[in-house]
Amino acid sequence: MAENSVANGVEILLNSKVTSLEEISGSGSDFISLEAGGREFSTRFVVNAAGAGSEEVAELAATRGTLPFHINPRKGQYIVFRRGSAEGLDTVVFQPPTVRGKGILVTPTTWGNLLIGPDAQEVQSSEDLETDPASLARIIRTARRSIDDFDIKQAIRVFSGSRPASDRGDFIIEWSENLTGLLHLAGIESPGLTSSPAIAHEAVNMLRAAGLILKDNQDFHPERKASVHPGPLGPAGAAARAVNLPEGNPDRIVCRCEQVTEGIIRDALSRNLSIGSMDGVKRRTRAGMGACQGAFCGPGVRTMVAESAGITEDEVFGPSRDRVKILENLAAMRALLK
Ligand SMILES: Cc1cc2nc3c(=O)[nH]c(=O)nc-3n(C[C@H](O)[C@H](O)[C@H](O)COP(=O)(O)OP(=O)(O)OC[C@H]3O[C@@H](n4cnc5c(N)ncnc54)[C@H](O)[C@@H]3O)c2cc1C
Repeated sequence: MAENSVANGVEILLNSKVTSLEEISGSGSDFISLEAGGREFSTRFVVNAAGAGSEEVAELAATRGTLPFHINPRKGQYIVFRRGSAEGLDTVVFQPPTVRGKGILVTPTTWGNLLIGPDAQEVQSSEDLETDPASLARIIRTARRSIDDFDIKQAIRVFSGSRPASDRGDFIIEWSENLTGLLHLAGIESPGLTSSPAIAHEAVNMLRAAGLILKDNQDFHPERKASVHPGPLGPAGAAARAVNLPEGNPDRIVCRCEQVTEGIIRDALSRNLSIGSMDGVKRRTRAGMGACQGAFCGPGVRTMVAESAGITEDEVFGPSRDRVKILENLAAMRALLK
């Protein structure tokens, strides 16, 4: 979607925190001045869809009024198992939901990994993304009530995310009372991803009703060039040989675990949305998603990202999680489950 929007004229500024939001005084036409990533913009409308940061954005506009909502972050932890571990499971298995969420699920990923989680913990800060063995063990025990024949030795990774829950207990889709033209789409907790197309329709209707003139883009391209993905895992022997192909050969395997080739990574790096992070490559190509979690391919991927983004290797962001800590968490989780 991001690449398609760029192809249709959208400019995406990554790593550009909104730091100022104020009415342009004396303009007489309700214009807002917004600063982000060192640039200044003047606009009639701003949509605050900053998730966990939406309270901070609302706060920038609330200098003359009260803060309309508070974000009460709710952390959820997950455990990912090796590719192939979900064999025999072809659907998402839910348990009855509780007041705090839809509960722990057991699911195959598109690529055949088993994925288990998330739990729900109220935390002080949305930056608290720590995983801990006691919670992970609790997740496994709960998941076993749904499916009990998975092997915890196959777990390769743990991670967590923070749901941007609010003190209102529902999605907040409303105009700011402090700054004309600021539309809040905040407190979008689960199932916010599923709901996002409907929320976007609602936002467009509200903006149109408020006077935003929307014109059809006659040159709209509905499609984008398909990205290249690794296929099913091939024979280990052939993969081992492909690792030794010379650099620059598109068939050279860079990520052994997931058999991701140099051609696939270069395709991701050459598209219309620049990538400056290890996670950017990982999420697009699966390089680093395997059992070794990027220990083998990480340095090579970092070099390619730096070259393509025109930055130094030190400037390439990530990986966003500490691999040693993940392994320690997994070992401690298994010990608790013995
Ligand atoms: C553990 C977990 C499980 C979930 N499960 C599901 C599920 O099964 N189904 C489902 O539909 N949804 C699920 N969700 C919820 C879903 O992820 C969220 O509802 C959705 O991501 C919220 O979208 P958003 O655009 O409001 O916020 P986000 O996706 O968080 O996006 C906000 C963006 O704003 C940026 N930002 C923040 N502050 C600023 C600032 N000051 N300036 C500029 N940019 C800023 C952030 O970097 C981020 O890119 C889950 C979430 C979690 C954590």
